[in-house]
Amino acid sequence: MTTHKQIRELLEFKSEDYPVISFYLNTHVGEISPDEIKAQAHSLIRLQEKKLSHKPFSHAQRESLTKDFQKIYQFLEEKPEFNFKGLAIFTCSSKNFWQVYELPQKVKDSLIVDSDPYIRPLLAILNQFHRLAFLLVDQRRAQLFELFMGEIKDHTELMTADVPSRVRYAGWYGLEEKRVSRHIEQHIQEHFKQVAVKLYLLYKTHQFDYFILSAQKHILPEFEQHLHTEILDRVIERLDIEPFTLSLNEVKEKALEIERRFVESRLNEEVEKLITEAQKGRLASLGIQNTLEAVNKKAVRTLYLVEDMTISGRECHNCGYLTLDEKECPVCGKVTEPVQDLFDEVVEAVLYMNGDYYTLPPNTLLREYGGIGAWLRFK
Ligand SMILES: [Zn+2]
Repeated sequence: MTTHKQIRELLEFKSEDYPVISFYLNTHVGEISPDEIKAQAHSLIRLQEKKLSHKPFSHAQRESLTKDFQKIYQFLEEKPEFNFKGLAIFTCSSKNFWQVYELPQKVKDSLIVDSDPYIRPLLAILNQFHRLAFLLVDQRRAQLFELFMGEIKDHTELMTADVPSRVRYAGWYGLEEKRVSRHIEQHIQEHFKQVAVKLYLLYKTHQFDYFILSAQKHILPEFEQHLHTEILDRVIERLDIEPFTLSLNEVKEKALEIERRFVESRLNEEVEKLITEAQKGRLASLGIQNTLEAVNKKAVRTLYLVEDMTISGRECHNCGYLTLDEKECPVCGKVTEPVQDLFDEVVEAVLYMNGDYYTLPPNTLLREYGGIGAWLRFK
């Protein structure tokens, strides 16, 4: 699972004396074979190697790059299948730096050699996903799971505490029993408190965005009294399921379903707002023509795209101008070249102008508007 720590290490990675490779690959899930994907990666690397042979690198720098390419080849060779949509690899062998991200969204093929990792495309994808914490609690135990980009991690071992079990105690005349039950009650409160504290610490270190809480109905309100308001403000669902009753897979399915509903309703609201604002002539664009205009003016703040839609178009390789069908670039006068996936080029241009983008599920309202729209910085 991609952890917050891993992302932070990437953001903080600096290599002054050795080049860093950032490698992005669209893995075309279900469209082409693993061998074809590998062949595509190889040709991308060979092309870059050729370009690099003309650059003024030192011997040690070249050795580092050679090792990087070998590592990428080896990684791809050892993959029997690609069950994710996009791949991002960052490597700098001489600094012992190597990171792999298997992504639930496609990326545009690219191989960049620079002194820093090229992270914009990765961040734009990560930005679209939430880190979810799923807590199941009862009077003695707690289970915690983390979910991110469709993957799940069990953190239950971090939540365990020792509380005496609610065993019936046969005391004298009920007196002893009363004392014991008061003792147990204290332990339960202590347990809730400990779980709440541990959850808050993990929230701070793992950077959870949202929480799903689960406990028997009569327990949950009592437990929630112990939670920090920052956590309570981020609860997106409450369930009535006891800990240790679901398999890991069932937990994952449940959490994914809740996340999907949550994200969809938020994106739907956002798209409705976008449509209204665009129709009022405010800082929003709808459809390919208006959005292209905004992209060419570098005016896009946030782009929205429907995941299974695209269109072909043309691009000026000289200045980056994007168009549906103009053969001559109106900016610099050069001849434009055809591009198969214009949406891909739009995403790249938006990333370049430090914008964000969101991929929408097929059933969105934006579909009726050409599958593309954007919030703008200016008009
Ligand atoms: Zn041009």
